[in-house]
Amino acid sequence: MAGPRPYRCRPWWLVLCGSGAYVEAAQLRRKGFSAPLLVDPCVYESQFATEDAPFPLPEVVKNSEVMLTFDDPHYDDPLRSSLYGQQSAGMTAAMTPTGYIRAEDSDALLAAVRQTVALDDPSVIFTAPVDVSWLRDDNVGQLIAALKLLPGGKALMLGGQMDPLGHFSQAVGNLIRILGEVPNCALMRSDLAAFGALAHGAWFGSFGATASVRHIVPPGEPVDNSKPVVLSPHVLFPELMGFFLGGTIAHRFAAAETPCCSCSVCDGAGLDRFTTTKGELKRQAAGHNIAVMGRWVEDLMSVPPGYARQQKWHELCHAAKEHHQVLNTFLGLKKGFEASDQLKRWASLTPTTTGSTPAAQRTR
Ligand SMILES: [Zn+2]
Repeated sequence: MAGPRPYRCRPWWLVLCGSGAYVEAAQLRRKGFSAPLLVDPCVYESQFATEDAPFPLPEVVKNSEVMLTFDDPHYDDPLRSSLYGQQSAGMTAAMTPTGYIRAEDSDALLAAVRQTVALDDPSVIFTAPVDVSWLRDDNVGQLIAALKLLPGGKALMLGGQMDPLGHFSQAVGNLIRILGEVPNCALMRSDLAAFGALAHGAWFGSFGATASVRHIVPPGEPVDNSKPVVLSPHVLFPELMGFFLGGTIAHRFAAAETPCCSCSVCDGAGLDRFTTTKGELKRQAAGHNIAVMGRWVEDLMSVPPGYARQQKWHELCHAAKEHHQVLNTFLGLKKGFEASDQLKRWASLTPTTTGSTPAAQRTR
């Protein structure tokens, strides 16, 4: 994908990734952008981490992507060179250029952790782009132990096609366990999970401005969208807490009252208007998605952390799950809007006053 791809963290950090990210970041700084800013090297998109090379060189090295400088004293060290580039570009913190960590590849994970610990640099964020299988009951303890070796910040990213947290029943419960046991652990490049993570004690959460940065896939695997021809943008339906194609929303509401949106972008306009990926409507759809997610962040963070915030998140998810049936009945659809597996799992996990998630619930 050409051009930098943004995703956002709370409290409103901006993360840029992809080709041109460094150039865009430098331009933003020159224009006076003073909010926290990160560049994600995204090495995990093209390279696997191994025990010998947990921070592999990017497959294609371009000046605009890795910020090569003539005075880089670490040009032969991919880890230090990447961190030096980010720090030289004025980023708020530097993210490790970690390769994609395969399921159960504990050698690669530990090699990456140990090299990062050896830096002894509190401004470095350890990027942990792990296959979602690390969240299975048999593996999650090892992942937690490895991440706890790092005294600084950690940025967990979950790899897998479509909706990684929907892949198996323990995934959401074990994500909550990680966030509860690992200090300063963020969840990045996610979607709905960014908000669930914030509710359960994440250092910060980030959501993708476009579908391509809402999760990661293993290097070499094409992104499975199930719908190869996308003629309309992905639109967040607030009451359903899910993304649907604009064309799908328009079709299902064709004979019903327009579903209006009160976000700052729509200002009362209908969600059934996003029927093309061309022109202004595409930009409006992206703006609408961000505005709705921003409102969720504010709502969630206005509640005290701990049980109250977890309960708020649970109520939001449960209401959204239930609303699918209500809306389908209203529209007379036998096979209409369907809640994602991830939403169902967040909705099924009732918080406890101790902050723990009972194992019986985690395995639902
Ligand atoms: Zn809107």
